[in-house]
Formats: sequence, structure tokens, C-alpha cells
Amino acid sequence: MENNVYSTDLSYAKQQDENDPLASFRNEFLFPTFTKEPVMYFTGNSLGLQPRACREYINRELDEWHKWGVEGHFHASKPWFSYHESLSEKAAPLFGAKNSEVVITHSLTTNIHLLMVSFYQPQGKRTKILCEGKAFPSDQYALETQVKFHGLDLEKDLVEIFPREGEHLLRHEDILAKIEELGDELALVMMGGLNYYTGQLFDMEAITKAGHAVGAIVGFDLAHAAGNVKVDLNAWGVDFAAWCTYKYMNSSPGGVSGLFVHERHHKNKDLHRFAGWWGHNKERRFLMEPGFDPVESAEAWMLSNSPIIGLAAHEASLDIFHKAGFDNMVKKRDHLTGYLEFMLADLTAKYGDKCSFEVITPKDPKERGAQLSILVHGLGKELFNRISDLGVVADWREPNVIRVAPAPLYNSYEDVYRFAMALEKAILA
Ligand SMILES: *Cc1c(COP(=O)(O)O)cnc(C)c1O
Repeated sequence: MENNVYSTDLSYAKQQDENDPLASFRNEFLFPTFTKEPVMYFTGNSLGLQPRACREYINRELDEWHKWGVEGHFHASKPWFSYHESLSEKAAPLFGAKNSEVVITHSLTTNIHLLMVSFYQPQGKRTKILCEGKAFPSDQYALETQVKFHGLDLEKDLVEIFPREGEHLLRHEDILAKIEELGDELALVMMGGLNYYTGQLFDMEAITKAGHAVGAIVGFDLAHAAGNVKVDLNAWGVDFAAWCTYKYMNSSPGGVSGLFVHERHHKNKDLHRFAGWWGHNKERRFLMEPGFDPVESAEAWMLSNSPIIGLAAHEASLDIFHKAGFDNMVKKRDHLTGYLEFMLADLTAKYGDKCSFEVITPKDPKERGAQLSILVHGLGKELFNRISDLGVVADWREPNVIRVAPAPLYNSYEDVYRFAMALEKAILA
């Protein structure tokens, strides 16, 4: 951490905001109004803020629906029949994917199941799934029920890997060693690309390579990585991935999900699937004939015609990402998150006897995104309640972790400064 580049003065925060090339994007978002004090919104990792333009994108589709009724599928300004294709083009570059490898559809947990139907194919002694311990509950339930679906033994076939005794983070060497140890019993590695609880970013490239070296398939849940960290799915050779778009991607509560299937699988018609008509050969989709013929792209995993309103909301956000530029976001993200870390260290130095903040997220910016998970010592939930009264929207996890995610698109340096001041006030209360 480059402590010397930061300062605890308000004037420093203000100056950083003035020099921030992304500062104007703050105005493209609508901030919650429910707090008594002006809001400090740090939960873009749970639900991103509403882009100001979202309403316009949605209204456009409501108007098309009004004007065209069912004919909108072919005659709307962006025909609904193929609307999702333009979103693949806008989303794919954010994931290092080819357009044909990405489709925006369904919800995240639905997509995880659909992808596992195809890519978890236990056979002979190769039956095991490796995942991170304490994965997000929905992922745990998906993995658990997939194993049971194949009539296999949870105890034996779902292998979880945990941090070492007394540590909070997984060590990459331990993940790679476990993959090697499981060897030809390993069917699938399926884990979060960025852990939702600790904020740890995994080396997806190395994990993919290690998984492939023992003959396993490798997939990632990118819920906390999407729109937050750079991923290069095609080049890394990841077999499949899925993400939700309502966290860092600001695409409406419960909004559409994205999925990725590496091009090497596109022509494989023998994969098991739970299919629907929107994954069927486009030329023949409306012939309504029997016999599923998968499109030779990620679209083969689409079941249904698209939820256009949801896609419109996602498009509003994707357009902002392209205007802002992902490299600019990454640069600000690291500096802003580092500033938050610096302010927390300063508070700990001042008030450590009463209350201290232990950041369990990796210190190296290459191993994290925008989120810091802060283990609070000394004070607990009452501290969190006090900062909430002061306008902070953050996330509390029992027993004593606060997750804070300064989102580079709309959070300012002054937000982080005010957050630190709220903590100080709460400590002194
Ligand atoms: C947010 C999140 C989910 C949520 O799943 P939905 O199907 O969108 O409700 C699942 N997994 C992870 C890792 C998440 O972070």
C-alpha cells in the first residue's frame, strides 16, 4: 500500500475528485434518498445504482410495445427477436470473450444449473467437483443438488477447499495442489472468480490451466467480478462462466444474467442440455419441428425469448461502461480502494485501543476488486448501526464483517472521506 500518496485531509479528497477523469459519471446515476443524512452508497457489490438513462431505455421499449404489439419482434427499432445479439456485442469485450461466446439471458443461478447440466458430466471415477468453501449460498445449493441429481455422494463428490487454520484467504498454491491431488477423479472446478465474502480475486487463468492439466472442466461464477475486474475468458481458456448484472453492472434488481461458453464447445452437439426454442437453429426456429438443433454459439443455452425490459436496463448500463472505458475504471478503482484502506489504517492507528479495522481482503490490488471486507475489532453491530444512521449504506455480515465497495463509476473520494468521518464519529459516540 502506497501510504505516502494519500492524505487524511478533506482537501486531498476534494482535489482527487477534481482531477478524476471519471468524476462526471457520478451524475449519470441516481442515489438513494431514504437516508436522513446524505447517502454514502457502498453496496454496488450487492445492487448497483440506477443509471439515470435507464428509464429512457426502458421507455423506448414500452413505446415500441405500444406501437407494434407482437410485430415489435421484427419491426421495433431494435427488433426483439435479435435484441440479445446486440447485447452480446456490448458485453463480450468486458469479459475478454468473442461475441459468439456470450449471451445475456435468464438469471444467474438458472444459468449455473443450465451450464452444469452440460459441463458436469461425471463418468467412471471422474465424479468430483472442487469449489471454494463457504461459497455463496445459491452456488452451494446449485452444486449440492447437481451432485444429488447424478445420484452421487455429497460427502465424497463435492470437495470444498478452505483457508488454512487462522487465515482468511485461500492460498493459490493450495487450490492448485488440491486440483492435482484430485487428478483423474476431478470432473469440474466450479468456483467464484472473486469471493463475495472476502473480496479475494482468484487467478482464474492458473486455475483453468491446472484443471485442464488433469482433464477437468473449469467454470467460474463471476457475480462479483463482472464489471469490477478484468477477465479474459477466451484467452484463459475457461470452459464456461456466468454472472449477474445487477451488482457492479447496475442493470436493475434481479436483472438479466450473462453466460459464457468457450468457442471450443460450440460445435459439440453431443453435450447434455436442458434446451428451449431460443437455443434452436435460428433459420428453423419458427418451423416448430421436433429435434433440438443447437445454435453453434453460447446462444444454444438460451431457453426462452428475451425479457426485453430487462435487456433494455442492462443496455443502459453497458453503454456507460463503454463510455467510461474499463481501463479507466480499473485505475480509479485501485486508487480509490487504496485510499479507503489508508483511511481505515489511520483510524486504527488513532483509535486501536477502542476499535480497530482489519482488512481481510488481499492487500495486492491485483488480487482484489473494489470491495474491502473489514473485520471490526472492539466494536461490532452497534458501530455499524451508528454509521448507517449517518447515511452509510454498506453490508454487515455476522459475526463482525463490514463489506464496503467504492464503485469507481459513481463513488467519489469525498464519499470515502465522509465514510471515514462517520466511522470516527461512531467510534467516539
Ligand atoms: C449475487 C450472487 C448470486 C445471486 O444469484 P441470483 O441467481 O442472481 O439470485 C449467486 N452467486 C454469487 C456468487 C453471487 O455473488
